[in-house]
Order: sequence, then structure tokens, then C-alpha cells
Amino acid sequence: MAEWLNAAVLKTVRPARVSWVRILLPPPFPPYPFMENLHEHFMREAIKEAIKAFDKGEVPVGAVIVHDKKIIARAHNQTELLKDPTAHAEMLAITQATSVLENARLEKTTMYVTMEPCAMCAGALVLARCPELYFGAWDPKAGACGTLFNIVHDDRLNHRIKTHGGLMERDSKTLLQEFFKNLRKEKR
Ligand SMILES: [Zn+2]
Repeated sequence: MAEWLNAAVLKTVRPARVSWVRILLPPPFPPYPFMENLHEHFMREAIKEAIKAFDKGEVPVGAVIVHDKKIIARAHNQTELLKDPTAHAEMLAITQATSVLENARLEKTTMYVTMEPCAMCAGALVLARCPELYFGAWDPKAGACGTLFNIVHDDRLNHRIKTHGGLMERDSKTLLQEFFKNLRKEKR
């Protein structure tokens, strides 16, 4: 490929502000998927969603919902685009999954989300009777799965969620830290 064309192509596919984050993060498709832990595979899919949010200037959080080892819903945070404080990745994914399963209950599903769900999303997961949750980064400011609140394990509610925090935490945390660092730079 001619050098100028190569440079032009690179310019269009790699916006400068995301390039190094992409280098730090794992490749979107693992070279040997059979060697990879299944939970890490699904979390990587959630991270891909979070990168989409990052590229759109949204707080980078992504989520997927798995049923029968298949992804039935995938979403990223869209609160800015939709001007809707409830448009968190988890909420959008729950709505998609209930529509796919044609059931308000997400029985036999697992949610993978890149950041610890907030009170709203943890509450929605309890209402949906989601049995299992994996999340990446802990959220000291709003986390409701063990950090600020523990809605997913509250005995007073009628459903509890088997929760695993910190899966591939570093990847999700790097993305969030980079996002807020850029935001602070832009505000200066
Ligand atoms: Zn939330």
C-alpha cells in the first residue's frame, strides 16, 4: 500500500485519543478462544461494548447478558446520547434480554458488566431475578454490589444474585481512568 494511503487509512480508523487505550486493552478477538476462560471471553465482549461508549464520549461501561452460553443482549452506557440518567448499559441490556426471552424474568442468565452496578441497576437485576453477575471494576462512588450498598445480597429482598467482582478489573479500570483523565483535560 502506498505510504500516503496507509497514513490516510490509519487516520480514519484510529482516532488519536483512543489509540493507546486500544494498545493497552486486549485484542477484541482472542487468538485462541478455546484456551480462554469462558467468563473472561464474555467479559471481553462487555469490554468491547465499553470501548464503543468511550469512542462516543460516554462513561465507558459495557454489558452483555448470556443465556445458554450465547450472548442474547449487549449494550453500552448511553446516558448522554439519550439524555436519560437510566440509560446505563445494564438497564439497556436487561430490556433487550427480556424482549429476546419474552419474559420479564431473566432466569438461567448471567450478566457480565465492566463496572460494579449502581443501586438502580442492581435493583433491576434483582427484579429480573437474574441468578448470576460478573463485574470488572469496583465503583467506590456508587457501587451497589458490595461497595456502597449490597443490594444483590440483601436478605430483606426476595432474590439474591451470585456475584463475582473484579473479573478483568484492570482492563475496565484503565478505560474508566483514561476517560475521566481526558474529561478533566477538556474542562481545563
Ligand atoms: Zn447503573
